[in-house]
Amino acid sequence: MTDYPQLCMIIDGERIAVGHRRTHKVVNPATGDTLGELPLADAADLDRALDTAERGFRIWRDSTPQERAQVLSGAARLMLERADALTRIATLEQGKTLAETRIELMMNVGLFNFYAGECQRIYGRTLVRPASFRSTVSYEPVGPVAAFSPWNFPLGNPGRKLGAPIAAGCSVIMKSAEETPASALGVLQCLYDAGLPKEVAQAVFGVPDEVSRHLLGSPIIRKLSFTGSTVVGKHLAKLAADDMKRTTMELGGHGPVLVFDDVDVDIVLDTVVPHKYRNAGQVCVAPTRFIVQDGVFDRFVEGFTERAKNIRVGDGLAPDTQMGPMANPRRPDAMERLIGDAVGRGAKLHTGGERIGNRGFFYAPSVLSDVPLDAAIMNEEPFGPVAIVNRFDGEEAMVSEANRLPYGLAAYLWTPDSHQQRRVARAIESGMVAVNTSMIGAADAPFGGVKWSGHGHEDGTEGVHACLVAKVVHEG
Ligand code: NAD
Repeated sequence: MTDYPQLCMIIDGERIAVGHRRTHKVVNPATGDTLGELPLADAADLDRALDTAERGFRIWRDSTPQERAQVLSGAARLMLERADALTRIATLEQGKTLAETRIELMMNVGLFNFYAGECQRIYGRTLVRPASFRSTVSYEPVGPVAAFSPWNFPLGNPGRKLGAPIAAGCSVIMKSAEETPASALGVLQCLYDAGLPKEVAQAVFGVPDEVSRHLLGSPIIRKLSFTGSTVVGKHLAKLAADDMKRTTMELGGHGPVLVFDDVDVDIVLDTVVPHKYRNAGQVCVAPTRFIVQDGVFDRFVEGFTERAKNIRVGDGLAPDTQMGPMANPRRPDAMERLIGDAVGRGAKLHTGGERIGNRGFFYAPSVLSDVPLDAAIMNEEPFGPVAIVNRFDGEEAMVSEANRLPYGLAAYLWTPDSHQQRRVARAIESGMVAVNTSMIGAADAPFGGVKWSGHGHEDGTEGVHACLVAKVVHEG
């Protein structure tokens, strides 16, 4: 593939390409073809990255806010200039449509520009004291960060993992998903080309458990930032706890969508259906459990099914594709298991429930209704193109279903009743709530969950503060 770059790790500025090392084959999920070979780190590589990160931290913590801002806004400009190449690479590696990878790229541009401003506003405060005393609170960068980002937003996740530490004055070792390495390297390259010292951010790849144990086992790393599943997040949080490292954990969700009787069903469906199948459902804030009130239930299921059947599924590079393949072979396997289990327990399958073709990892947009609570899909994050639509008789039961699971990332509600909007938004246990919209994130808004969906935030002022520690100095 001519327009797919050679893969490498970047440690202390050195590009380490495939040699004698263990490698991982990167595959195009639309075809199953190999795109490239990725070198995997051994212990010596990781030790070198740690030493470099320690030096990088000393360099970057003393950088001026203007220098950091220049790097971030410069990288944002370069991402825009390189948009065509970067979005094509992301679609090749991950499968989603070019329109979707462009949105991701624009999210990074917005976030880097926001952080470029925010890093110049890391204000402390002076406490009220008698004239001869002074006490000041200031914020300092936490130290070298180990950042692990997954494959579902091949550009956006690395952007978040790199942007916050760099804004805060930290160094960072990023291990992005081995499935989408060139996208992450492309984002990192924009930062280098905008003037980021090579010691400040590095990219390693490897066997995830080996890399995380090694990096988190080192006292050099002072913070873990992880996006991925709750089960892996709990494991990593325990490793981080051994050394009291700070953590930002962006974990799984099981997004409830409460649809009340007084909505305009077609308007809701025109928003929620494309939102459901965006990135083939592989989104932590995806709408998953549609909790629909009696009066609109039948029309909702019917309209959802009709729209899902009309979605054009294909290679993300083709201009008319609306939904690409799933990102890896584990996901269609998971869909078969979860949908099979639900149907076996009495759920109704309205459309989908099958793979498409015999190349790549395609799975049909699927709609289930009347799914019993003991079905695995009602309790496990499906992370795929399947909507679960269940009927409820009123607000209390709907809120109770929304809060039933230990997850609390994104929740959505649809009602024109302004009192109900506020009441329900308050009652729902989640980090983010969207009312009459699918918009759940923005560069200036904290993004994060509660309960098993994790803790800490990315984006917004909170994203930079997640890489800072408070220090108070008392002067007598
Ligand atoms: P997974 O849980 O094994 O991996 C998820 C991510 O974590 C991957 O990027 C992987 O490289 C990384 N990872 C796994 N073990 C690790 C370790 N020990 N140390 C460091 N990183 C590690 O499984 P998967 O099959 O890749 O994804 C399946 C599930 O993960 C999905 O069903 C979904 O629940 C979750 N997921 C969530 C997000 C999110 O945005 N929150 C993104 C991707 C995957």
